Amino acid sequence: MEADAVDSTFDRSQLRDPSLLREDLFIGGAWTPGSAGRRTDVVDPATGAVIARMADATDADVRRGIEAAEAAAPAWGTTTAIERARVMRRWYDLIVANADDLAAILTAEQGKPLAEARGEILYGAGFVEWYAEECKRTYGEVIPTNVAGRRLLTLRQPVGVSAAITPWNFPSAMILRKAGPALAAGCPMIIKPAEETPLSATALAELGARAGVPDGVLSVVAGPPATIGEILTSHPGVRALSFTGSTEVGKLLMAQSARTVKKVALELGGNAPLIVFDDADLDAAVAGAMASKFRNAGQTCVCANRVIVQSGIHDAFVQRFRTAIEELTVGNGFEDGSEQGPLISEAAVEKVQRHIGDAVAGGATVVSGGGRHPLGRTFFEPTLLTGVRPGMLVAREETFGPVAAVIEFSTEDEAIAMANDTPFGLASYFFTTDLGRMWRVGEALEFGVVGVNTGLISYEGAPFGGMKESGVGREGSRHGIDEFTELKYLCVDGL
Ligand code: NAD
Repeated sequence: MEADAVDSTFDRSQLRDPSLLREDLFIGGAWTPGSAGRRTDVVDPATGAVIARMADATDADVRRGIEAAEAAAPAWGTTTAIERARVMRRWYDLIVANADDLAAILTAEQGKPLAEARGEILYGAGFVEWYAEECKRTYGEVIPTNVAGRRLLTLRQPVGVSAAITPWNFPSAMILRKAGPALAAGCPMIIKPAEETPLSATALAELGARAGVPDGVLSVVAGPPATIGEILTSHPGVRALSFTGSTEVGKLLMAQSARTVKKVALELGGNAPLIVFDDADLDAAVAGAMASKFRNAGQTCVCANRVIVQSGIHDAFVQRFRTAIEELTVGNGFEDGSEQGPLISEAAVEKVQRHIGDAVAGGATVVSGGGRHPLGRTFFEPTLLTGVRPGMLVAREETFGPVAAVIEFSTEDEAIAMANDTPFGLASYFFTTDLGRMWRVGEALEFGVVGVNTGLISYEGAPFGGMKESGVGREGSRHGIDEFTELKYLCVDGL
């Protein structure tokens, strides 16, 4: 199905509060155009329209951001947990109160349907709310002593200034997932958003300032990634780096951070398997595959990249999956009823086409879609491929687009081996009604997150993160704050 022709151009005057759309850098509590006065266009991927001209940070601007954070760190780090929680709670309330405007800004710069954008804002806000509470519970411990007259204690203290480098696919939630625990732990954070989507970052910073986040505790520096990344990773004043993005850039930043031995958390690429066993509930499996595969036009790190289906249920599953895929409505994210927006760029479309071409050349069948959508630009048809084999590009690499690649298998052992046969280990899913299989497969999958009978697994109270080349560290839950705290051991003698 098609939505109406793409003519919904974003106009900032439609925002209830147009002052949320900020095109300057936010450094040390002040908005600044950047010392070189250079700007980069921010483009609506659905229309190609330039919606803003974002300031580029220079080396000097980034250094000022770090210095402002260093200056703010002692006071923020020693503010009582109750006071930090209050500031964060106000930030959460403002994000929720402005969710419609934040969603419109997100859709304008990223393309996802407005309802999905709103869902992302609320999901991200959940991290601020959750960590506002958790900050009161960053307990230390008293360890039973080994020597008379001695006491052993641990304290969990802020690691210091932190930096976040975030991707374009979840421009709001990936920031809040990092800033929530960082601020709760008592760490200032300097955010470098993706060049495609800086406006979600600056809008969040504006709301943070209104909530009373002190100057220098939250800064946003957009601009040339390699230059900014080099400064953030080499500066000894930055003690922790939290990165979400590609494995390639993650490895580079990890190596760069080694020079000053920073604490590093990396949320990188995935190659998620979604296994459907013969005993699965077909409705649940199709719904889960749709949710996991086509959310954000297939541009998520937890998207099912390989749909691995057992022979006995294969044909029935494919038939139902096809029907659901063909019912998806592709259109501008601002159009009512739109379920799949454009891809982020022409390069993204080319990658999707390369993967489909390689699969077809290897013998796979295009059951549905397979090409550019009639809406043009970077809109792409929701696509279903069958007869995919593990060696094909579409099964080996993250396609990051609306392409479901179905691979057939016979036995449970074969499915597990196939699922684990990847250097990645972020999300995985399987569908079964057999309790024994639930345990066996759940334990055997080498992935940081395993969804059983569901395609939606994200929640701020649960730990999210990858194994193998999908990353190190966890976001969300009580474990997420560990990335921003040091565990200090106090050994007190002479008592
Ligand atoms: P990317 O790695 O190209 O970019 C991510 C961020 O890194 C952007 O802000 C970018 O400007 C910056 N960057 C790029 N080169 C840099 C450099 N040399 N130094 C410093 N910063 C640099 O990734 P992308 O294409 O924007 O995002 C898609 C990738 O992100 C996918 O692989 C996806 O799986 C991954 N991702 C992972 C998660 C997760 O939680 N694991 C979540 C979302 C996206």
